Amino acid sequence: NNSVPLLVATGLCKSFGGIKAVYEANIEVNKGSITGLIGPNGAGKTTLFNLLSNFIRPDKGRVIFDGEPIQHLQSYQIAQQGLVRTFQVARTLSRLSVLDNMLLAAQKQTGENFWQVQLQPHIVAKEEKQLQERAMVLLESVGLAKKAYDYAGSLSGGQRKLLEMGRALMTNPKLILLDEPAAGVNPRLIDDICDRIVAWNRQEGMTFLIIEHNMDVIMSLCDRVWVLAEGQNLADGPPAQIQTNQKVLEAYLGK
Ligand code: ATP
Repeated sequence: NNSVPLLVATGLCKSFGGIKAVYEANIEVNKGSITGLIGPNGAGKTTLFNLLSNFIRPDKGRVIFDGEPIQHLQSYQIAQQGLVRTFQVARTLSRLSVLDNMLLAAQKQTGENFWQVQLQPHIVAKEEKQLQERAMVLLESVGLAKKAYDYAGSLSGGQRKLLEMGRALMTNPKLILLDEPAAGVNPRLIDDICDRIVAWNRQEGMTFLIIEHNMDVIMSLCDRVWVLAEGQNLADGPPAQIQTNQKVLEAYLGK
């Protein structure tokens, strides 16, 4: 159902020194949607992601996820509630195998933040056959099954982004925040990444919020797009409407 809100953030503010990186920003993501977040460089998109997942604390504002306020939770607890994210530059553990990266993601129940966990391959429960099987199924779905036993560090930037998505899926999330999934990715792999996002959305009902500068990606994937400029909401609506919105065009051309 595309009109049930899964994430509702209101009045989020964050300043760094004198810079209002995000100011009174709102965003809504409906269950089962692929929602876009766009805006010129420095608009506050990544800061907003950091606020939603509490990687940094808002000065002000409220975040409701799946009906519950979450802004008081630690980011690993937010991940446990089913809100997970990827990063602009993929944070994979390069000295672990691709498969171990996936298995480590499933360790979230230990209470560790798995994105910050130290390299401890021994804590990965290899004997847990079910987890292994699930990891292999997901690696297949991100096109990395053949790389399962390679070091994550041997992957290309685009493949690392796919691995990060695989890891996010490994946690059985309700919502995945993707920070620039197409940035720095070989153009041939971009279509592939988009196809996989669409497949998880259509087949598994996975909900996505996506920051992306590549407008083709945003326009082809998203049901609804939110536009930030200078930390504030500029517009939101269906992609076709946003593409021709005068205020949006001016914000981009003004830079
Ligand atoms: P881009 O598209 O270039 O990634 P963005 O829309 O994600 O940009 P942010 O990275 O959120 O924008 O930055 C918003 C503003 O906040 C910018 O002016 C940036 O310089 C500033 N900013 C972000 N993080 C910090 C920080 N940790 N310390 C100081 N200033 C920051």
